[in-house]
Amino acid sequence: MSAIDDLPPLSEVVREHGLSAQKSLGQNFLFDLNLTAKIARTAGTLAGHTIIEVGPGPGGLTRAILAAGAERVVVIERDRRCLPALEQISAHYPGRLEIIEGDALKVDMAAIASGPARIIANLPYNVGTQLLVSWITTETWPPFWSSLTLMFQKEVAERIVARPGEDAYGRLGVLAGWRTRSTIMFDISPKAFMPPPKVTSSVVHIVPRENVLPCRLASLEAVTAAAFGQRRKMLRQSLKSLGRDPGPLLEQAGLEPTARAETISIEGFVALANALDNSATG
Ligand code: SAM
Repeated sequence: MSAIDDLPPLSEVVREHGLSAQKSLGQNFLFDLNLTAKIARTAGTLAGHTIIEVGPGPGGLTRAILAAGAERVVVIERDRRCLPALEQISAHYPGRLEIIEGDALKVDMAAIASGPARIIANLPYNVGTQLLVSWITTETWPPFWSSLTLMFQKEVAERIVARPGEDAYGRLGVLAGWRTRSTIMFDISPKAFMPPPKVTSSVVHIVPRENVLPCRLASLEAVTAAAFGQRRKMLRQSLKSLGRDPGPLLEQAGLEPTARAETISIEGFVALANALDNSATG
């Protein structure tokens, strides 16, 4: 692919604005236009949605999102050095790109979305994971977003989509699987980034489940923290850290006391969370 718009090539933009990648901000920029277009396509239909892109950097992915037909894109970028490059894109697509300078962890994204929203992000993995958890744990469900298309280190992506019995299955997989359906769409080689990161990345696409098994989030988090905190131990042992006798909880949830966390389905953890709440009120 040679060009997707009449703007200068990204490498020139980066040079012109002196955007040397900063490690402290987790900056690894994607220059490959085929890949940015593929990520934009992965998000689904863009027209008719507010597209929130977190961490646009010099705007490679932003340009792909706009070229793919997004009518309203809101980007949130922490590094003010990137703002002139983003302003240039905004001028090229009048009225379609809004720029917010700031820390995405502090921005109220639900307030930005008018109508259905899709979130797209290529973020440092610690910020990405923290945001993912905040998007999955919003009080209102279904949430304000209709999809999340996120890039993670492959190892983190595997934890998000993991199923019971898999090594990567843990607290993140239970939380994500409880409220969403998530799929690893494709991997991205370190070579596609400037500078190249140490590990392979994966693009994960996540959509909200319509019928979520009812339970209290705090209780689900409590039982998964206890169970996976000692993942090699049997539940009758690991659940003692909840401060209750695990026996009656496990019986009420219909789980074997000798089972280990990594074999318990999401339904099992939900049953356990509800048993914990019943034991508190009963
Ligand atoms: N999206 C661009 C791309 O794919 O080439 C840049 C990706 S780079 C891995 C991550 C970007 O997120 C950087 O531009 C960085 O400045 C920004 N960033 C890091 N932490 C952030 C935060 N807390 N809030 C908003 N942006 C952040």
